[in-house]
Amino acid sequence: MKNTTETKFPSIIESAWNCKCPRCRRGNMFEGSIFSFSSSARQMRAVCPHCELVFEKEPGYFYVAMYVSYVFVVAQLIASCVATYVITGNAESPWLYLIVACAAVIILAPFNYRYSRVVLLYWMTPSFRFRPELYEREPANSI
Ligand SMILES: [Zn+2]
Repeated sequence: MKNTTETKFPSIIESAWNCKCPRCRRGNMFEGSIFSFSSSARQMRAVCPHCELVFEKEPGYFYVAMYVSYVFVVAQLIASCVATYVITGNAESPWLYLIVACAAVIILAPFNYRYSRVVLLYWMTPSFRFRPELYEREPANSI
């Protein structure tokens, strides 16, 4: 017999894009929006507000996110230089490429910081896999 009150869970891509907790997909991993200029809004929470998952599973765990961020930066450098070549056709001056590549990496730094941790917790930490029972549970602080 099929359960008629089936809950539709958000997909892993949707949850990762919205920076939700990888285990419950409800709690926000960060204090505020990626577009916020407030430094407190950009900080990552230590614990999920919904399921109380401790995001940094062991001391220094987010150093691994540095390697993920490195991959992002290399991809952005290559993409920005290829886009510069396609748009301008410049094969003479390296300064144009240097300025565009540095600007792209600086502008995308908040994205790299946030999504390197998201990729680490979603796809490189098997112990943090999705648990549907936590999605349906009441938030931890309301119990
Ligand atoms: Zn959670």
